[in-house]
Amino acid sequence: MDLDGAALAQQLRAEFAPEVDGLLREGRRPRLVALQVGTNPATEAYIRGQRRGAEAWRIQYDLHTLPGDASEAEVRAALEALNASPSVTGILLQLPLPPHLPGRVLQLAIAPEKDVEGVTPTNLGALVHGRDGLAPCTALASIALLESSHAAIRGAEAVVVGHSEIVGKPVALLLLARDATTRVCHKFTKDLARHTREADLLVVAVGRPNLITPDMVRPGTIVVDVGINVVPNPEVPGKTRVVGDVDYAGLVAKGCRVSPVPGGVGPVTVAMLMRNTILAARKSPPPREEISVPLFPDS
Ligand code: NAP
Repeated sequence: MDLDGAALAQQLRAEFAPEVDGLLREGRRPRLVALQVGTNPATEAYIRGQRRGAEAWRIQYDLHTLPGDASEAEVRAALEALNASPSVTGILLQLPLPPHLPGRVLQLAIAPEKDVEGVTPTNLGALVHGRDGLAPCTALASIALLESSHAAIRGAEAVVVGHSEIVGKPVALLLLARDATTRVCHKFTKDLARHTREADLLVVAVGRPNLITPDMVRPGTIVVDVGINVVPNPEVPGKTRVVGDVDYAGLVAKGCRVSPVPGGVGPVTVAMLMRNTILAARKSPPPREEISVPLFPDS
């Protein structure tokens, strides 16, 4: 399969394995803590994916749960305790939060050096300087898929559809850092097809099935489909299935190379979360030596 996310995720895991070996040898096991407030069936699948990913990468994964009626101050206090804990090397706040809590505001309480989802202003700001240390995982995954296609990114016409803070904007900055001529389309773009037809590289992150149809692209375009949409399954009445934002079969028939949904960006996003957790662990202070100095050495 072209632009196979599962295969790329496995390759990334193999590339980072020696680094994990080194950290484990030094007694610095990367530890990722996910903080969840209340229960949310929509996040269950993400949590399962994170846990499975962490196990495969030999990262310790802990899910901390606060009650659904926790106050903003309680969530903030929990994040601050995780920030202060030397054994925690990565933190993520599972979104969405219950409606009374401001998710984006609370994410800002995560210490930037443990912000493995790359959502704090410090880590997003680093992207403007061309540094992609702890960048948002889905944006990193989109770039990794483009790079795995072996298409030239330098000088390419790159079009990003969607400009959210965690996907569209960081993808655009990562493309600029790789010298692509980059444009960003959004809800108010007057003629989306005029832009997408000029793309060599197209990243679509909107959340609307069938937004990109074959008439909107040229043959040969490399397309990363970030969208996740649950739609009725035409083959099994009463059941649903997950599709992306592009007409996958139509674009492939037109001669484009397209990342599938599921099986494209998703597994690589989990791999990038693990990659970020390892980078954060590498920069965390080494474990403190037990210092046993006698209190009264001369006695
Ligand atoms: P988001 O915050 O809702 O952002 C969607 C973006 O699309 C916004 O910038 C919006 O513009 C723009 N938009 C809306 N309608 C448009 C249109 N007709 N034409 C062009 N742009 C339009 O969503 P997100 O978090 O970036 O996620 C986007 C999609 O990716 C979702 O389906 C999400 O589930 C999926 N996703 C997948 C992964 C993964 O691991 N595979 C991870 C994250 C997200 P305005 O802001 O102007 O409304």
